[in-house]
Amino acid sequence: MITGNCLCGSVSWQVEKLDDELHHCHCTMCRKAHAAAFGSYCSSSPEDFSWQSGEDKITHYNSTKRYPRAFCSDCGSVVPSIVGDGEMAIPVGCLNEDPQIENSAHIFVKDKAPWHSINDDLPQHVSYPGETVNFPMEDRACNEDGKLHGSCLCGDVAYEVTTPIKVVHNCHCSRCRKARAAAHTTNGFTGIDGVTYLRGEELLKTYKAPDARFFTQVFCTRCGSGMPRLDPERKIAIIPFGSLDDDPGRGADDNIFTGSMAPWYEITDGLPSFDEMPE
Ligand SMILES: [Zn+2]
Ligand SMILES: [Zn+2]
Ligand SMILES: [Zn+2]
Repeated sequence: MITGNCLCGSVSWQVEKLDDELHHCHCTMCRKAHAAAFGSYCSSSPEDFSWQSGEDKITHYNSTKRYPRAFCSDCGSVVPSIVGDGEMAIPVGCLNEDPQIENSAHIFVKDKAPWHSINDDLPQHVSYPGETVNFPMEDRACNEDGKLHGSCLCGDVAYEVTTPIKVVHNCHCSRCRKARAAAHTTNGFTGIDGVTYLRGEELLKTYKAPDARFFTQVFCTRCGSGMPRLDPERKIAIIPFGSLDDDPGRGADDNIFTGSMAPWYEITDGLPSFDEMPE
């Protein structure tokens, strides 16, 4: 049996049996919903899936007819939802155990983030499996006014970044993985004055992990997308790259907290890796 829960623990579930496929989905909607480079999903039949707690805490956002996305209203974690053909779509980042799924693939690579590269040998599908490709992704132009723009999946919250990104970490810590229900987050850091909300700031909700010194999740209450966090204490702004609409022209500098990385994920980017936070 496999169990899972959101970051705050309100929503929890268990699965008797998972299907034997894990998809890293690079579609724009997954990138926004997870505020990450990609969303990773496995699936089960509804009969093998049961909620343990917090079903009443779940908010749905219908990104497409086929796929009502679900997230915890308290902490913003993406949680499982039932998709059009009746199966449960389960974000792997929120599982407590290694699902030990043999068949993994990248899907919707046509929509891949320009700042993320796929370096492993897994099959790549243009959209849903059925078509396999291997092509260099075209470079997308940077924004023209020197600012970076970002928004949530529903579009009601938008922001701009006006100062250079100083550093970009792929963070593999367990909090980031649960918070975004993803293999890892990719967050850019700049000064606190470098990020301005253009609309929808009143829709944001903040969840601070009670046992954490800093860790705080900021998300859109309509769609659950992770949004930038302004931290007055450290005078920094933390930007989840998955929410960017413009190409920042750079990807991650390193992998951090790899000591607690997901057992079902492999790092193949060749970047420096640190067990915890580097000095
Ligand atoms: Zn929660
Ligand atoms: Zn997707
Ligand atoms: Zn939204």
